[in-house]
Amino acid sequence: MSDVSSRPTNFIRQIIDTDLASGKHNAVQTRFPPEPNGYLHIGHAKSICLNFGIAQDYQGQCNLRFDDTNPEKENVEFVNSISQDVNWLGFQWSGEVRYSSDYFDALYGYAVELIKKGLAYVCFLNGEQMREYRGNLTQPGKPSPTRDASPAENLALFEKMRAGGFKEGECSLRTKIDMASSFMCMRDPVIYRVKFAHHHQTGDSWCIYPMYDFTHCISDALEGITHSLCTLEFQDNRRLYDWILDNITIACHPQQIEFSRLNLEYAVMSKRKLQTLVEQKVVSGWDDPRMPTIAGLRRRGYTPAAIREFAKRIGVTKQDNVIEMSALEACIREDLDAAAPRAMAVLDPLKVTIINYPVDGIEWLDAPNHPKDDTMGSRKLPFGQVVYIDRADFREEANKKYKRLVLNGDVRLRNAYVIHADEVIKDADGNIVELKCSYLPETLGENPADGRKVRGVIHWVEATNALPAEFRVYDRLFSVANPAAEEDFLNVINPQSLVITQGLVEPSLQSAKVEQAYQFEREGYYCADNRDSTAERLVFNRTVGLRDSWGKEEE
Ligand code: ATP
Ligand code: MG
Repeated sequence: MSDVSSRPTNFIRQIIDTDLASGKHNAVQTRFPPEPNGYLHIGHAKSICLNFGIAQDYQGQCNLRFDDTNPEKENVEFVNSISQDVNWLGFQWSGEVRYSSDYFDALYGYAVELIKKGLAYVCFLNGEQMREYRGNLTQPGKPSPTRDASPAENLALFEKMRAGGFKEGECSLRTKIDMASSFMCMRDPVIYRVKFAHHHQTGDSWCIYPMYDFTHCISDALEGITHSLCTLEFQDNRRLYDWILDNITIACHPQQIEFSRLNLEYAVMSKRKLQTLVEQKVVSGWDDPRMPTIAGLRRRGYTPAAIREFAKRIGVTKQDNVIEMSALEACIREDLDAAAPRAMAVLDPLKVTIINYPVDGIEWLDAPNHPKDDTMGSRKLPFGQVVYIDRADFREEANKKYKRLVLNGDVRLRNAYVIHADEVIKDADGNIVELKCSYLPETLGENPADGRKVRGVIHWVEATNALPAEFRVYDRLFSVANPAAEEDFLNVINPQSLVITQGLVEPSLQSAKVEQAYQFEREGYYCADNRDSTAERLVFNRTVGLRDSWGKEEE
């Protein structure tokens, strides 16, 4: 159980506190109910942290239940990725993974009960007719022609539906509630439809499948859920949730409580849109590091702790809002600033020959792994006659604000010596191909004795020991803050969302483990890609830049 004082408080926890104090419940049971029709995204993480977090803090239980009533859109790859993502976020569900399909027999029984009570009927209106009969907000609906058929007739028809006696779309089972209700979801909603679809859990046992609204409340009740937490779009449907449980013989009646969805700037969050990005090959897959999926964030280098912290900071309310990307980035940056060892990587290498340094004279310098944390130890860094610096760290001329290397100026190489730029070598087209520099031998950990001005500190790697590496520098996937509001969100993809460069890293990174974060000095936080990085070919993903440069250009 986490420290009570560090627990979040929110309106849902207040309801739970009241229920425990009044004796309505003596234990808390929640559930996370994803549909296995895509990968989980950061919005789901909010719901996971809420449901599992509450169970943890109240010493209760949280189930993982797949809401699997749409077999055509679901599959086992999604089931597996979702279970993995929940575990990776640091949560363990109670007992076995559950499926709504575990309850298909029970659900069928409850449908029969409603029919017998005269509260459900088989309807032969097609989709278009059903819409027309339903009416609208200003107009009450009309009764279906079969609304008043007898329970015996309906039972026989429902059995025939189950036995495969009707075609898809030919008929459905509807509850008999109120065709004039001001809540459209109460106008005799469909609870079963015919679908000759193979199901990833139940195979070909069923050719009728229950609808979400019917399935969800009953699954919750069968599992003894005390508080059924869902997002605001189900607010109206709470009437239906309660109506179904009130009209069948079932002991438990969970309380549905709605909270607002997480929306994130510069991202789309619906699984359907994310699927489109994958299918249209805008991204490389569900785990592309630009995706707001858990798998994408993980591959990008986000840690479970940072995502949990983010969920905590955004809180839980009933207010719809859009969270800035910088709020998510702040969480990972803070986590990695403390935890990530430092290393040097040159993304766009420019050769520097140190003319007064002995040829082949490699020396191994000590470099701390973390400037603020001695317990992280140090590593050996080779220095030699040829080093590489980043092309952007040299200019032939620059004003005082430029804190890097300038021709005839001095700069410190991080963890090593001060060097002086003596000469620029260019190719026939005038491109700079090499610098000739001299180093100041007595400047290891010391300022130049002659009092000369050193502009700043830059990073570098030694040529003979450096390892080639690919760098994948990510930016926001969309060029507008709210891509979902566009006519076609595929039209506002940021063409610079992935920039790949080939460069060099220091030799200690030979052993870089996938997903292990590093701070590449002055470049940002990076981790080895969990798909493509190998000992022979290192590939690093930029998790996040060093500072919040969202919407700002760096100098
Ligand atoms: P999407 O609209 O992205 O496809 P969904 O609601 O259909 O999502 P489910 O698999 O049904 O996805 O969601 C599982 C749980 O996660 C539900 O309880 C749902 O309310 C919650 N959830 C989904 N998206 C968000 C979000 N953006 N913020 C908070 N909770 C969410
Ligand atoms: Mg859903």
